[in-house]
Amino acid sequence: MVPWATAVVGALALLPLPPAALSQTVIAKTSSAAQVVPNASATQTGQPLRVSAARIVTDSERTTFGLSLTSSMPIHVFTLANPYRIVLDLPEVTFDLPQEAGQTGAGLISGYRFGLFGNGSSRVVIDTSGPVRLTRVAAVALAGGGVEQQLEIEATTAEAFGATVGAPAKASPVALKPSFALREGSIAAAGKFVVMIDPGHGGVDAGAVGPQLLEKDVVLAVSRYLKDVLDSKGRYDVRMTRTGDTFVGLDQRAAMSEAAQAKLFISIHADSVDGSVLARSARGATVYTLSDKASNDAARALAEKENNADAMGGLTARHGDDHEQVNSILADLIKRETQSFSVKFQQVLLDRLRPANLLARDPARAAAFRVLRQVQTPTVLIELGFISNQTDADQMRLAEWQKSVAATIAGAIDSYATQRSASGGGP
Ligand code: ZN
Repeated sequence: MVPWATAVVGALALLPLPPAALSQTVIAKTSSAAQVVPNASATQTGQPLRVSAARIVTDSERTTFGLSLTSSMPIHVFTLANPYRIVLDLPEVTFDLPQEAGQTGAGLISGYRFGLFGNGSSRVVIDTSGPVRLTRVAAVALAGGGVEQQLEIEATTAEAFGATVGAPAKASPVALKPSFALREGSIAAAGKFVVMIDPGHGGVDAGAVGPQLLEKDVVLAVSRYLKDVLDSKGRYDVRMTRTGDTFVGLDQRAAMSEAAQAKLFISIHADSVDGSVLARSARGATVYTLSDKASNDAARALAEKENNADAMGGLTARHGDDHEQVNSILADLIKRETQSFSVKFQQVLLDRLRPANLLARDPARAAAFRVLRQVQTPTVLIELGFISNQTDADQMRLAEWQKSVAATIAGAIDSYATQRSASGGGP
């Protein structure tokens, strides 16, 4: 049983695209990009594999997604439901596409995302407007060298889609292997307080998108500064769930933290809101702890958005992860002592952020964030500000601001760690 389409691109026949008169969305940084790259594989030339353009071609029935590659390479294509997506896995490539690529779609495609997926692979996740069927997967040699990988789709029924849906097991690097847990869980440097910093999103999942500003970049920058400050103090063993622009699943982040027996887990994010009125007024930082009951509607909506990161990265929805089961797990977690330490750290962090004038209104919140579900480790999630707010976005872009917020968070960690060691042990 092979529930996904696997295509290995080899020597290629020329399959022409539909005539130029049809509607096209072409995205490329330079129109000549495809012509300057020799038509040979990276392994032969030592040149990095590169995606130089992406386009969507539509006609009345079918939509074709085209990805220009510097050379042919093995790819895997499969579909996912809830929401409907097509996932294209390829070896590690550089995406030489404009930042706004994929934010709008055409035909049956509503948008797409792309980026590193870890383990030397890259991924493109294509959102479709409904259930679709892959009618053709082909690679077409480009005149100037390289190939265009084409995926042609047409609409189908939810029932027919369901019969083909599924990710290949081997294309799922997010599955946590025991060896990984052991490696990441290596014993903390003697006597050091282990802090796990979790920069949200990454790779194929950009998180919130603002004008010339991506959540995944801002949060990684702040996280790196935070690691630098903490390292310089000498009392911490600082780990990060990601150190580069790569995708990491939410459960894997939580598992890394638990395996490292972290004393504190800090997930760092930046929010955004729709609508110009809200975008002008919503600004500042908020700090969240885990709760099965969201502190308000905005907190609930935010947790849903952040928990959707796995879907953005093209992971399959987990079986048996229904609402009731999740709530009973949460209720159990929240009763534990760990949770009271999470709330303590939240207070310390808010006390530090307040004088620096960094907080939003009503900044102490709680909601059911998946990444915060950890049994032994106190966890908080901080939203640094709103990418959708011009004032916040202008600040968040600046290294100076990123360093100062990192120093403020580090100060809170210091104060919390001192309290913890004074009271002896505990989570
Ligand atoms: Zn986020």
